[in-house]
Amino acid sequence: MHHFVPWQDRARCRDYDPEIFFPEKGGSSREAKRICAECPVRIECLNYALRRDERYGVWGGMSERERRPTARKKSTAKKSTARKKSTAKKSTARKKSTAKKSTARKKSTAKRR
Ligand code: SF4
Repeated sequence: MHHFVPWQDRARCRDYDPEIFFPEKGGSSREAKRICAECPVRIECLNYALRRDERYGVWGGMSERERRPTARKKSTAKKSTARKKSTAKKSTARKKSTAKKSTARKKSTAKRR
């Protein structure tokens, strides 16, 4: 049974051969991703595929492997680690800067005496 989903009316893939979006195992999904990149309903499409746990094909510009929960978790973990490192660097820089200011203030106060 086919369910009508309103956003599919605006899907760019409607104008292309569906086989582009369902490459053979080991085949390239580059062409499909290129088309998806310019699709106005990419987000809706990706959400739809994730909700329905679509196992095959390119949806919303992501291959089946990229949509797997483990792949998404890894990508989120990487981002989180990068964010922590960046925050740690900023914090260290702030501490150093505060220490310098404090030393300068002490020197300046000592001179005045
Ligand atoms: S994002 Fe989804 S709807 Fe849009 S072209 Fe790609 S597969 Fe089709």
